[in-house]
Amino acid sequence: MYVESLYLELTRMCTIECEHCLRGDRRNEYMSKETIDNIFKDITEVERLLLTGGEPLLALRQIKEILNVIHKNNIKIDKILLITNCTVLNDDIINTLNELSTDSKLNIQLSYDMFHYLELQRLNLFEKRQKNAEVLKEKFNASEYFDYKDANKRNKDLIYPIGKAANLSLKRLDEINILKNTNYDFNNGSIVPTIAFDTTYLEEDNELYGVVNVDVNGNIVSYSLPFDEEDNEANRYDSNVNKHGLLNASLNYIKNKNQDDFKKRTKRNYLKIKNT
Ligand code: SF4
Repeated sequence: MYVESLYLELTRMCTIECEHCLRGDRRNEYMSKETIDNIFKDITEVERLLLTGGEPLLALRQIKEILNVIHKNNIKIDKILLITNCTVLNDDIINTLNELSTDSKLNIQLSYDMFHYLELQRLNLFEKRQKNAEVLKEKFNASEYFDYKDANKRNKDLIYPIGKAANLSLKRLDEINILKNTNYDFNNGSIVPTIAFDTTYLEEDNELYGVVNVDVNGNIVSYSLPFDEEDNEANRYDSNVNKHGLLNASLNYIKNKNQDDFKKRTKRNYLKIKNT
């Protein structure tokens, strides 16, 4: 089966605890080997593979397992995107990233904004982050990106009010904005857009289009949700790859998610008509 965009939440663990983290509080959970095997069992090609978390470079064992399974099953991965906060890097990680870039186009993005900066300062990790960023830029042509270019109240609409960000007050956003540091060029990056739900299966060609996002427990869920909401979706949509395999889990997800969205739309329209 061909999959256009496969997003994998390798871990819910992170090295830092940004106060705007849309995932919520970090958790010591990692994707199992069984889940990785079941995800890739029926795949022949992936156009875009996103390795995410938490901090994905904490999940080196999982990345190595993915490399094993794609080599063993001769799976073609066109592009790999990995987003890291740059706080963990060693020779083992660099060798593994080299391996990822051997048969695929590897795009490493370095997440950074004022919230990351404050957390790196608090934990005395800022210098380390900068050094690691230089290595990743030199070896892998990595590029900076930021979640939020400005953390001020005038741009509050840019801050999605989910996860920990839901608790950020305008007062705190103003404080952060005043602290804004000039040591680092916040303009030198790009914003990664949030992806909408658009997954579709073309049976005649055995191709899955749109984003197939698998959480740390092997559930197909929407991308960019807080961990708690992912778990809620997992309970509602019965879309676990270990129970159903990737294709049937995706079909369950598409069916149940569409029904859910349809119910919400219908209810909204009904209420609109009722109130006019
Ligand atoms: S925003 Fe990213 S780096 Fe910060 S705590 Fe959340 S997952 Fe970790």
